[in-house]
Amino acid sequence: MDEPGPNTWKIGCIISPALGWGEQRGNSYHRCRICNIELLTGECAGFCCGTGGKYFNNTTPLPPLPPQYTTFINDPNISSKSRVLNLIFSFASMETTHPFPTVPGPPGFVAIQGRIYHRLRPNHDNSAVRWLLYDGFMRNMAPFENLAQTLPANWIDALRNALLAYNPLVGGLSISVSLILNFALMPISALKIRAPPPKLLPL
Ligand SMILES: [Zn+2]
Repeated sequence: MDEPGPNTWKIGCIISPALGWGEQRGNSYHRCRICNIELLTGECAGFCCGTGGKYFNNTTPLPPLPPQYTTFINDPNISSKSRVLNLIFSFASMETTHPFPTVPGPPGFVAIQGRIYHRLRPNHDNSAVRWLLYDGFMRNMAPFENLAQTLPANWIDALRNALLAYNPLVGGLSISVSLILNFALMPISALKIRAPPPKLLPL
């Protein structure tokens, strides 16, 4: 293999990471004294909330998680399986107005250009929108079936129920589809849904 040039990134594993969250330091833990969040090694007081907590009131606290999330949010496997759970319910795919540039070097980074937008793809085989529109969240029709089978069944049920209860996109789709099925007013391709695509779990 050729020697990497000056414009090529080298990617490797961190064999023994020396960083940690909320390390114990004497009788206390490395946390923010204002918001109490755990800080990473090297992050100093004020890293999150500003000096003396001057930014603490700039943001409003997030609302509590839907109660359905208790099914999986404290499960020790949620960290390793959260991306699969997110994928099963990904209603939109991210796209850009311009092609992805070709970047030399090994894979590991994505370069984009142009405006970013989300695209709903109800005709895509693995789209969760299709799963909702045509199959009504039928368990045996879940997108990415092989991956879906690696998740506890009650996780999928819990997240589905949370979406039906709280997500405006899912609510809009459900109502629209029921109207179409009941009154045959318009083809599904004529649907216009005005709701932001959901972002369900942090990556
Ligand atoms: Zn803080």
